[in-house]
Amino acid sequence: MLITAPRVVPGTGELAILEPGYVLVTAGPVARVGRGAPPRRPDLALGSGYLVPGLIDLQVNGYFGVNLADVEPAGWALVARRLPETGTTGFLPTFVTAPVAEMSHALRCASVLVADPPAGARVLGVHMEGPFLAPTKAGAHRRKWMVTPTQATVANLLTAGVGALRVVTLATEAEGGLAAVAALASAGVVVSVGHSDATAQQVAAADAGARMVTHLFNAQRPLHHREPGVVGQALTDPRLTSGLIADLTHVAAAACAIAFAAAPGRICLVTDASAAAGMAPGRYRLGGKLVEVRPGDGQAPRLADGTLAGSVLRMDRAVANAVAAGVGLAEAVAAAARIPADLLGRPHLGRLNPGAAADLVWLDDDLRAQATWVAGERVYPAGAVSA
Ligand code: ZN
Repeated sequence: MLITAPRVVPGTGELAILEPGYVLVTAGPVARVGRGAPPRRPDLALGSGYLVPGLIDLQVNGYFGVNLADVEPAGWALVARRLPETGTTGFLPTFVTAPVAEMSHALRCASVLVADPPAGARVLGVHMEGPFLAPTKAGAHRRKWMVTPTQATVANLLTAGVGALRVVTLATEAEGGLAAVAALASAGVVVSVGHSDATAQQVAAADAGARMVTHLFNAQRPLHHREPGVVGQALTDPRLTSGLIADLTHVAAAACAIAFAAAPGRICLVTDASAAAGMAPGRYRLGGKLVEVRPGDGQAPRLADGTLAGSVLRMDRAVANAVAAGVGLAEAVAAAARIPADLLGRPHLGRLNPGAAADLVWLDDDLRAQATWVAGERVYPAGAVSA
C-alpha cells in the first residue's frame, strides 16, 4: 500500500514535515517514508490534510457510553472498534480509585482481555490511577477508597495485573510511596506522579524510578516560585514526561504553551476521557459517582459540586488544540504518538519510519481524523475513503 499526502508528519525526533510526502507499507510494517514524488503510482492519493502516525492515549476511563473499569468484553470491543474515529490507534484503559479488592478483580479480568485483545485500536495495557492518591488532591476520586501503598497491597495489585498493568498513578509523598515506586518500576510498570500534594523536594520519586506525571496542572501541587511543587518538578526534571489534558477546560491554552515550551519532548497529550465521551450530553458514571455533561458547557463532565471529572476530549482534537495554543504541528503529533509510545517502551509505535507498525491517520486540514489504519488495515471509515 502506497499513500501520498500533501503533508506527511513522521512524528520522529527530527520533527520534520514532508510536503508532499508518501508512506509505503509492504507485508506489515512501514517500508519507506519519503518526501516528494513517490516511487510508483500510489494506491491512495490524499488531496488534502496530513498523514500522521496513529495516536496513542495513555488515559482513557471510558468512551461511547462504556466504563472501561467494568472490564466487560463487549464494552472494550466497542471502544477499541470506535476509537479510530478519533485518530487513536492505541490506548490504555484506565481504572480510577475503587476498593482494592475491586481494582484487583478488574486487573485480573483485564489481564485476560489484554492477552486476547479486541479488533481496532490496540489495547496497550492498563493504567491504574489510584488507589494510592493524596486525599487533598482527590479530584473526582472517592477519598474513602484511597489507601496507603503497603508492600502487600502493591504486591497484590501487581500480581493481579500481571501482563496488563503498564502505568500506575500514585502520590509519592504518602508513607511507603517511594518503596511502592521502586517496586512497581522494577516490575516494569511506568510510575506516574499524580493526585499528589508533594513538594518539589518530595518528588524525588524520579530517583526511585518514576518516569511520568499524570495530567500536569490538574489535581497536584501547583508551581509556586518558592515551592515549585509537582508542576515545577515535572517541567524541570528531564526524567519526567507529563500527560496533559489539552481540552482547554482542564488547562488553558497558555498553560499548554508553557508546558510544551518548558519541557520540549516531555509532554504527552491524553484525553482522560470518560464514558460520556462521544455521547450526547447527559449523566454518566465514573468511579462510583455520577458525572454530568451539560449542553454547551464546554462539554467537560463535572460532579454535582462542579469538580471536573474526566473529559469528552478526542485525541485528534487534543492535537488541534495544542496547535491552536501555538505548539508546532510536528511537536503536537509527537506528543500524541511517539512520546507516549516511548514511555510504554513500544518503539515501533507512534512514528512513521521503516520498520514501524503501519498505524496511520489521515487528518483533514482542520486536523480531524478522516481515515485510520491499524497494522496496515483500514479500520475507519467502514466504506471507501474519498481522497
Ligand atoms: Zn486524575
